[in-house]
Amino acid sequence: MQRQAKMVSKEITALNKIDMAEKTRQVVEVNHLRGDANPSTIGIALDGRYNSTSFGSAKKPGMDASQGMSLGIETSTPKKWIVARTLQTKLCWTGAWLRGKGYDVNCPGGHPDCTANTDRYDGLSEQAMGKNIGDQLTSQVFWSSTPRLTGTVLEPKVLRRPHKP
Ligand SMILES: [Zn+2]
Repeated sequence: MQRQAKMVSKEITALNKIDMAEKTRQVVEVNHLRGDANPSTIGIALDGRYNSTSFGSAKKPGMDASQGMSLGIETSTPKKWIVARTLQTKLCWTGAWLRGKGYDVNCPGGHPDCTANTDRYDGLSEQAMGKNIGDQLTSQVFWSSTPRLTGTVLEPKVLRRPHKP
């Protein structure tokens, strides 16, 4: 099952990105129909989770986790659609295997098909995840500026609620 999931994972990721961009476009359209002065201003709520069962590490500052995921959930409509997601991961089986064989491999991106996007010695950053979600929404709003919105020039602006500590 994992092999089959790996075969279609890129397609599923692409479909999910298209779907989230469509949801963002629908939120902008709802704002436009409501008569908002700036319909592309979308309120979102962010939350994150880590793959750790403890709140802190006894050996280092911060979470004792190798992955962190954050979702951007729109708050403009009652649907509360997920319009963006981001993942920070230090996990790379290929990199670990190569290091075990004696190769000088430092992920991320140091070899083909690297699955890590964060250095294994760096901390996971909610600020970086929030910035990534903002970047995604900015490109989605730009991408979703369709003529269906009566030619309105949509400024890519995203309001972010402060994250609860
Ligand atoms: Zn790697």
